[in-house]
Amino acid sequence: MTVLVTGGAGYIGAHTVRALRSSGRKVVVLDTLERGNREAVIDAELIVGDVADQGLVAKICGDKGVSSVIHFAAYKAVGESMLEPEKYWNNNVASTEKMLDVLTEQRVDKFVFSSSAAVYGTPLSMPVTESDPTKPESVYAETKLAVEKLLGAFSQNTDCRLRSVSLRYFNAAGASKDNRIGEDWSSSQNLVPQVMRALLDKDFKLEIFGNDYPTPDGTGVRDYIHVEDLAVAHVKALDYLESGGETLVCNIGTGSGTSVMQVIDLAEKISRKKVPYRIAARRAGDPISVFADARLAEKKLGWKAARGLPEIIESAYEWHRTHPNGYRRGN
Ligand code: UDP
Repeated sequence: MTVLVTGGAGYIGAHTVRALRSSGRKVVVLDTLERGNREAVIDAELIVGDVADQGLVAKICGDKGVSSVIHFAAYKAVGESMLEPEKYWNNNVASTEKMLDVLTEQRVDKFVFSSSAAVYGTPLSMPVTESDPTKPESVYAETKLAVEKLLGAFSQNTDCRLRSVSLRYFNAAGASKDNRIGEDWSSSQNLVPQVMRALLDKDFKLEIFGNDYPTPDGTGVRDYIHVEDLAVAHVKALDYLESGGETLVCNIGTGSGTSVMQVIDLAEKISRKKVPYRIAARRAGDPISVFADARLAEKKLGWKAARGLPEIIESAYEWHRTHPNGYRRGN
């Protein structure tokens, strides 16, 4: 009984591999390493390859006795998805469908999918619940929603009814408590790594994308979730499927919103340094405020975020301070 983790050498995937190992499961990782890091895969076998390689996926399922899959492998840069849509449709959707065909043949019937709160677009009301309308505003978000729908269709397949949990992540951030895995700021444009870069790279200044939003301090509000909490959510999703749970789409967030300015203030307190920044224009497509209604995850999966913003900022600061060049280029 092995869990196949695709994209397990990526940021969230690598944390999830560790959480799965801690839960006593056997894990095999399939990752192209195009954007992942070999060093991030701890205590699990890594197979370098693509989920679209049907022969390879079939062989892994047979050789390793795969009974469930956690699927992270995908491109995730929103801006890039608008410039190269075909690449995103191909890698995130077409490749996933190829893999799902093989899984069905191989009688693998449990699947956890790395989805995103981006499927909601700019939500009409807050907090966002799973039954709110979806309205993707980027190709990236479109591809996540397309796979959720594909999974809905596969759950109707009468040969091998694939049950799945699609986890709609809010803003993943932070690093592992033991400081072994984190997020490289050169490959992520997200707020927390960029704040860390502003603290640690003297040639870099953070840009705050708008301070005239209708929020308490004028900056955008998001739901930041510690990557280790997110990793646990995948284990809980697998527990749920293993005990017979039906196909489910579920928010994974903390349920509370934090502004860009609040992130900066806390980063300054924790690091005892100033974050150099300038106010820039609003970023196209940025919603004003997004945070989760996280009750369904608690009810169905028994999952709730255990860590808050201090743990996110502390662990991210420690990781970036000790890995200023990410994994590869020698620190
Ligand atoms: N943000 C910012 N400067 C940056 C990166 C992000 O001001 O360099 C803001 C962004 O406008 C949003 C919040 O930080 O309000 C979170 O953005 P991020 O890209 O981390 O995640 P998103 O919610 O867009 O997926």
